Formats: sequence, structure tokens, C-alpha cells
Amino acid sequence: MHKCSLCPLSCNAEREKAVGACGVGDKIKIAKYYLHPFEEPVISGVSGSGTIFFCGCSLKCCFCQNYELSRNLRGKEITSYELADIFKFLEDEGANNVNLVSPTQYSDKIIQALKIYKPKIPVCYNTHGYEKVELIDLLNDFVDIYLPDFKYVSPDRSLRYSGVANYFEYAFPAIEKMIKSKPCVIGDDGLLKQGVIVRHLILPQNLDETRKVLSALKSIIGDAYLSLMSQYTPFGELKYPELKRKITLREYNAAVSFARAEGFEKVFLQNFSSQSTEFIPSWDY
Ligand code: SF4
Repeated sequence: MHKCSLCPLSCNAEREKAVGACGVGDKIKIAKYYLHPFEEPVISGVSGSGTIFFCGCSLKCCFCQNYELSRNLRGKEITSYELADIFKFLEDEGANNVNLVSPTQYSDKIIQALKIYKPKIPVCYNTHGYEKVELIDLLNDFVDIYLPDFKYVSPDRSLRYSGVANYFEYAFPAIEKMIKSKPCVIGDDGLLKQGVIVRHLILPQNLDETRKVLSALKSIIGDAYLSLMSQYTPFGELKYPELKRKITLREYNAAVSFARAEGFEKVFLQNFSSQSTEFIPSWDY
């Protein structure tokens, strides 16, 4: 019986018999796949990113906008063969890449699927950043682009909002590994073929944390992009009062100033008007 230790929680669940701390067992479960237009321009391009949303998650972010799939596990079970078939379908539909969203808890099965069919378009691993370096080593033969979040530095903040005190302890070396493994390659069409985009979501009343994240990231950024995200929108039952509002224009401008002061050169800035639930897909798979 296989005991799972894919993610830093290392909960040792025997997933053939029971679900792990990420909420899922040994079957792949996905919520949706489609051509997604709202990633960074070098990912979505004109025709869209071939995005596959996976159910379950090893983090428990209290502000998660995808809780229908991360927590409520709304979706459909598929095999590795069916997942490989979806890769091919998205490629044939004209996707610029295959974009695996919240993939960590299925990474072994995703590797199986990529051994069955490796698309000719880039494969993106779109993660919360809470990863083991050993897993990134394994994924490097199959993944072309990493899209990690870099959420927190402080243990108290990651514990309060995402349920783990050791987020930075794992995310920082994992992101550093991603950046060292995948130098940036832009194609003739202006789209990213290989590389890393590190995303940071600005949270209300948390500019001190944003400043720490940007400072830490600058020390490892190499030729990777920073994507500074302003889209935070309060969603569902939030127990922390500071999270019950969108970020202010002052907070957004301050975060942009931090990035400028740190000297980041390759930066995507999200339009301040992106704070809307309109950008959350409907989970209709
Ligand atoms: S991926 Fe899920 S089952 Fe595996 S160690 Fe992490 S939480 Fe546990």
C-alpha cells in the first residue's frame, strides 16, 4: 500500500483506501478544462491557455476563490489515459499551452499521463508554491513552464490564512529550483515556451507581507517574471475581518512601488479593475 508524501504535508495517506489531507484519494478528479483567456499575456495569448482545474488542495486558504473544487471537490473522476486525451484535445483546439491548475496532489498521475501523451505545446505547472524540491526535480523532465504563487514569508501569516506555518520553508527553495531549472524562452509568436512566472496576490491589510515576499523573491528572481496580482475579492464566509474587503488603490500603488524599488525588471501588473468575481470560472464540468 502506497503512503503518499507528494506534498510538504507528508500525511502518509494510503490513498487507495482513504483521502489525504488534500481531500482526495487515488483517482484524478478535475472540475473543468477549457481555453482560458485571463492568464498573463505570454501564457494566454490570443487563443487562450488550455487550462485544466484539478480538485483538492494541500493548502486551506481561507480566501480561496476556487473552494468549490479545492474544498467541495466538485468535479469528475478521470484516468491518466483520459487526462492524456484532454491534453491532446486542448492542443487540437489551438491552446497555446496545457495549464495544470492545482496539480500537486496528482503530480504522480500527471507524470503518467504525460508519458502517455506529451503535447507539442508547453506544459505549465500552475501551483500554490507549497512544493517539495524533490518533486520539482521529478517534474522537470515533463514541465516547461512553472507558474508558482509566492504567498507569504512569515509563518504566522501562512498559518493564519492557509493553515500551514512552514509555507516559506518549502515554497522559497522550490521556487528557486523552478527558476534555476527553466530559463526563460520566448517564441517568435511572443509567447512563453519555457520559464517561470512567480505570482503574488496582494492581500488587504498585508502590505508588510508583500514587501517581505518581494524582497525575498528579488534574491532568486534570475530571468523569471514577477506577476503582481490585485484581483483579491472577498469570497464566502471569511472569519478574518481584514480580508472582508478588496485592496485599496493606495495598497496597490504601494505594492507596485515596492516592486519598482526592489528593481524587478520583468513584471506583469494586473489592472486594478480586475477585482471581480466575473473572473472566477463557472464549475460546470
Ligand atoms: S498530496 Fe495529499 S495525500 Fe499526498 S501528502 Fe499531500 S496532503 Fe497527503
